Amino acid sequence: MTSEKVRVRFAPSPTGELHVGNARTALYNWLFARRTGGVFVLRIEDTDIERSEARYEAQLMEDLRWLGLNWDEGPGASGQPDTGAAGPYRQSQRLAIYAEHTERLLAAGKAYRCFCTPEELEAERKLAAAEHRPQTYSGRCRALTQVEIDRNLAAGKPFAVRLKIEDRPLRFHDLVRGPVEFASEAVSDPILVRSAAGGAAGVSAGVPVYNYVVTIDDALMGITHVIRGDDHISNTPKQVAIYEAFNWPLPEFAHLSTILGPDRERLSKRHGATSIASFRAMGYLPEALVNYLALLGWGAEDGKTETFTLGELTRAFSLERVTPSPAIFDFDKLNWLNRHYLKLAALERLSDLSWNYFAASLPPRDAASEATRNWFEQLLALFVPAVDRLDQLPAKSAFIFAFDPAAARSDPENTAALAADSARVVLAEFADRARVHGGPVTPEIFKAWINEIKTAAAVKGPALFNPIRIALTGASSGREFDKLLPLIEGGASLGIGIPGVRQRIERFVGVQAR
Ligand code: GLU
Repeated sequence: MTSEKVRVRFAPSPTGELHVGNARTALYNWLFARRTGGVFVLRIEDTDIERSEARYEAQLMEDLRWLGLNWDEGPGASGQPDTGAAGPYRQSQRLAIYAEHTERLLAAGKAYRCFCTPEELEAERKLAAAEHRPQTYSGRCRALTQVEIDRNLAAGKPFAVRLKIEDRPLRFHDLVRGPVEFASEAVSDPILVRSAAGGAAGVSAGVPVYNYVVTIDDALMGITHVIRGDDHISNTPKQVAIYEAFNWPLPEFAHLSTILGPDRERLSKRHGATSIASFRAMGYLPEALVNYLALLGWGAEDGKTETFTLGELTRAFSLERVTPSPAIFDFDKLNWLNRHYLKLAALERLSDLSWNYFAASLPPRDAASEATRNWFEQLLALFVPAVDRLDQLPAKSAFIFAFDPAAARSDPENTAALAADSARVVLAEFADRARVHGGPVTPEIFKAWINEIKTAAAVKGPALFNPIRIALTGASSGREFDKLLPLIEGGASLGIGIPGVRQRIERFVGVQAR
């Protein structure tokens, strides 16, 4: 390990939503930077102009901030200056830098212009296939004389720029996999700049390829550790050859294993949500997602701790403990972590995060009264422990907002509890008391009634409680009455359109099953 300051980068292409795999790459880079007191750089790889979109760039920056992964250097918001001295940090703004480097390689004889047409290359590939040889470029244009080159340029023939690969193994060190070696044939003479008609003075007007620009950027930005997904491992020998052509020192590499779905196929939309935005929309907390992503390929030193805040991860994380074996995305475990963090979250924050799921039942949060907000926090205190994700709250608490006694009666789950003669007595007794009482039913009043009804109907336990619970909530199991009753009565008194205890029981005894 050298003593130079660690510089790492996250280099997403803004061609779609930020996927959990890329978010994990960002997290590991961030953790490594924070752990070592290094610098975390954000670089936007937007050379694919057709597929790159400003909205994806904005979204991925927002996602990173939401996860808590701030960057030390990177692009400013559109129209704003970049942060950091190694910019610009958008590749689309670095084209002149790439062109200048191409000139240098051509002048040094490390790269050459390839005038082969697509048809010639295709014919070469077909011949190699027919002769069972590797379908690599023959290197034909390496041998062009200056006269031939000048003639082609003067004729305006399009050309690509290729790197001259020397015949020796390409080696690099991978912190996750150890030493890696590729034979030079695996790379042949890779294209650095795609074919296009030459610009002025034989300068290529073509688009530089990913492997080329990523290497130039990593070198010029002083990146010491390249941490990324292992889908890039086969690109790395090409990048190594480019470092060598420029006489640049190699960084350390760390290739992170692929994330698979529970069926061990590459994680994709088929398995459910995969973008950070969709997890956020479902009501996962960022600390749960960060914790979960950290465990996808890394584990604590003690082999058992599973809950880590970002701060704890920063102290515990090390690349040495990153495993090369594929990680399986386990939605149950993510849910478990989310429940863990939901329990720790302040009610006010949960209220802020959940309010919009209730847009159909509640006024907008900033227009809601203090009492309505307090009531909603009471609701959250009761129901958040019963969900995996915040978007499940409306369904879990639906009976609080709307009450359908006929449906409760006809639910097959309830028929047995309601069929007993004692159930009718219990409900009638309860309804009588509610009618006479008239006002809100507090937990104290409820307790007193229950004691009386127990004697009057000569039942106890489930035979006593289940019919009442069904009459008030539609189901025979659920949260404690002590908390449920104030919620039902509170909601009714706030006029959010919620029937109170008395209306519920009266309607219930008055209807038939549908
Ligand atoms: N833009 C590349 C990607 O999103 C970055 C690869 C790299 O980190 O080198 O896959």
